[in-house]
Formats: sequence, structure tokens, C-alpha cells
Amino acid sequence: MLDIINPANEEIITQVEQDDTSSIKEKFENAKQAQSEWENVSLSKRMDIIREFSKNLQEQNDNLAETMTRETGKPISQSKNELQAMPARINFFLDNIEHAIESEKVYSDSKIEECITYEPLGVIANISAWNYPYFVGSNVFIPALLTGNAVLYKPSEYSTLTGLAIARLFEKAALPQNLFSVIVGRGETGQLLLQLPVNGVFFTGSYATGTKVAQAVSGRMIKTQFELGGKDPVYVFDDADIESAAASTWEGVYYHNGQSCCAIERLYIHEKIYDHFLEVFMQQFHDKSIGDPFSEKTFFGPLTRKAQIEVLEKQVNDALGKNAQLLRGGKRLSSKGYYFEPTVLINVNHSMEIMREESFGPIIGIQKVKSDEEAITLMNDTEYGLTSGVYGKDRKRAEKILLSLNSGTVYFNCCDRVSPYLPWTGRKNSGMGSTLSHIGIQTFVQPKAWHIRKS
Ligand code: NAD
Repeated sequence: MLDIINPANEEIITQVEQDDTSSIKEKFENAKQAQSEWENVSLSKRMDIIREFSKNLQEQNDNLAETMTRETGKPISQSKNELQAMPARINFFLDNIEHAIESEKVYSDSKIEECITYEPLGVIANISAWNYPYFVGSNVFIPALLTGNAVLYKPSEYSTLTGLAIARLFEKAALPQNLFSVIVGRGETGQLLLQLPVNGVFFTGSYATGTKVAQAVSGRMIKTQFELGGKDPVYVFDDADIESAAASTWEGVYYHNGQSCCAIERLYIHEKIYDHFLEVFMQQFHDKSIGDPFSEKTFFGPLTRKAQIEVLEKQVNDALGKNAQLLRGGKRLSSKGYYFEPTVLINVNHSMEIMREESFGPIIGIQKVKSDEEAITLMNDTEYGLTSGVYGKDRKRAEKILLSLNSGTVYFNCCDRVSPYLPWTGRKNSGMGSTLSHIGIQTFVQPKAWHIRKS
């Protein structure tokens, strides 16, 4: 049995039966059978079912938010934010699916006609993370189902109840049985899933786990995609609007306790505005309370995973041992639950883990820089490449810098932002492949090239 723990008080909420080799195999065989019928269901019928799913989700927003908050510790207002944003995301897929996978006649002359059509991959494994289970899950399973695939969805062990709730929403929407099956368990269960002859693997999680998943599927000619961690930098120019840059980057660092893949994890501030920026940045803490994630007033809930506390403590100790200065926080809160004080470190540099390893928590290193050149060098000095951003008045200066950064997403005067119209894609250790945008729809189909000789 899998214990589902409430990270706010460390109590067991419930226990859920885990999948084993034989139940996963059975789900796979059933999915294969269901998929062979589903791919022949018209697109408009598939779209109707997804529309119904979206409607059910909206009707149950409050319940679903409570479940997510209970098992992940995400503050209730932030759980509701995620759910309230879901219909727009689903609508993006509904509005763009037809065009993205439309058959095309690409060439024709008196003798030959050439066309491209698109076919589903088959049964895909979707191994997912807990931090935004609706967003990161639906970026995969909605377009995968719309394009005619079946999905074996393995939610994180920290968002299992949410995964099961998603399955019930599909059931209520009359999605044919076995097209969306939840695989319950931890990492070992993920490994069992990967041993099956699935036709694609779409993984969201850490780089460390991503490498294990890559090893498990190596040698198999199947589509694999990886959405992994980040160490996302932001550089604030000397001409930036300090008030708004400090408020916006503060939110980018600390929203959801820094447990967003695209949370800001490094701040570089031009020396001319450094002191002023720091002062305004620190002021942002004054009205943000830490506490019960079920209180609408709470901004900082507990961390979702206990193990992350040690990662954060290690990064703080490493930085302090190398002469960083702690402006606030730096330790676990003594109350029950996985609470960690929101933390700010200055006098940091790239010899410290805080500026190089993913933190995934409410912690930031703020470094002073002298020039754009220095900022670019530091921002690119990472194994990750998910997002990078700059704040300032000069768009040309910003574009020049953003062009030279090796990351999948770049931001100007904004951060921690995902749009369904744009591909979500990491570089280097942040991953491979894209979800979202037309590219993130086409990733779930395989093209067929037609050469038709005219008689
Ligand atoms: P994780 O890597 O610990 O787990 C992710 C999933 O993999 C879980 O379902 C887990 O059970 C499963 N898993 C663990 N070991 C496995 C194994 N050996 N084989 C197969 N499956 C295994 O990550 P997490 O803690 O759930 O999520 C946090 C990480 O995810 C962070 O690094 C974050 O940056 C990243 N993330 C990235 C994105 C993105 O879009 N790039 C989005 C969300 C989260």
C-alpha cells in the first residue's frame, strides 16, 4: 500500500493500493485494445469527450483543489489558480488540434501526388510530477488522447489522489474505458511501467530521474520526451523599474514555495541598482504569511517532499561556508510539517551549490554584476536551460542578451509564465522535446508520407 501523507502535519491521509507487474501489464493490454478502437473514433467525438472533461473539472474545482492541497501542501489559493486556468489550456488544444494534424497535399504534378497524414503513436506512458499535476499532466494526456492515443498515466506518489481524481473526471466524461489508466506507485512502479512495450514515453520530473528513464528505454525506437529541472536565472538591468522588477521577481522566486520548474533560482542585479533592488525585494515578504495551506491567506505552505528540506539546508550551509550572507531564513521551521523558512542569500558566487544546483524550494541567491557581459556569462554557466529572463527598459538590449542565452524559454519583464501557444521545451539537462503549442500536439502523432502515382 502507498501511504498518502499530508505534508502540512505529516499525518497519513489514506492508503492506496499500488500497481504491480501483473496489474500494469493488464492495464497495458487493455489500453492497447482500447486504443485500436479509439484511433478510429472521429476527431469531433474525441473533442466532445475532452470538452465534457473540462466541464466536469470546472464543476468540481473546489473539491479538486482541496485534494491537491491536502496531498501536496500547495496553498489553497494556488491550487484554485491552477484549476481555474485549466479550461483555457484545454481550449487551446481543442481550438488547434484540427489544424495541427490536418492531412496535407504538399506536392502535385501531372504524374505524382505527395501527401502527409498523421497517425497516433499508440499507447504512451506519461510519468509525471506533483508540483502542477493538472498543468504538466494535461500538457501530455489531453493532446495525446485527442490525437488518438491511449495513456498510462503515472502520477507522482505525492499527487496520487489527484491522479485518481483525473481518472474519475474522464470516466464521468464517458471516455471509453482503459484509454486513460492510472498507474499507482513510486519510482520502482515507474520502472515497471517502462518495461512494457509502450509506443512513447513522456516524462516530467528531475534530471536525475530523467537519466534513469532514458536508460530504461535506451535501445528502443520509441518517442521519448523529457521535461526536467531548471536553475533559471534573471538579470535586472541598471535602468529597470525597480519597484515592479523586485515585486515580479519575488513572486517568480517564491510562488508555490519555489516548487515550479520555471521558478527563478538565481538573480543577477546590476551593481548600480543592487542596494535599492534588494531593499524593495525584501519588503515583499511583509504581507506573505506562512502556515496552514487551507487558509486563503497563506502564501507559503509546507514543502511537498520532506527530502527537499535536506537539499535546501545543504545548499545554505555550503553557501555560508563560502562566505555568503544570510539575509533571512535558512532553516526548517520547528513546527510539524515540512516547512522551510523563505530564504535570501547574498554575497553568493558560482562556487556555491545555491547558484548551480536546482533548489526547488523557497530560497534565492542574489549576485551583483558589473555588466551585461558578466551577466550573460553567469546566466549561461549552468547545466540547465529551461527559462531565463531580463528586466529593463530597453527591448533591443534585452533581445541581444536573450538571443545569447541557451534556454528553451526567454522572458522580458516577466517570469514564471507558461503559454499554451508557445512550446514548453528545455535545453541541456532541462530536457528534450516540447509540449504545448502546435509542436506539442504534433509530438503525439507520427507522420506518414504518401507517394501516389497518377495513372
Ligand atoms: P521526480 O524525478 O522525483 O519524479 C517524477 C516522476 O518520476 C514521479 O512520478 C516518480 O514516481 C517517477 N520516478 C521516480 N523514479 C523513477 C524511476 N527510476 N523510473 C521511472 N519513474 C520514476 O520529480 P518530482 O519530485 O516529481 O518533480 C520535481 C522535478 O520535476 C523538479 O526537478 C522540477 O524542476 C521538474 N519539473 C519539470 C517540469 C518541466 O516542465 N520542465 C515541470 C514540472 C516539474
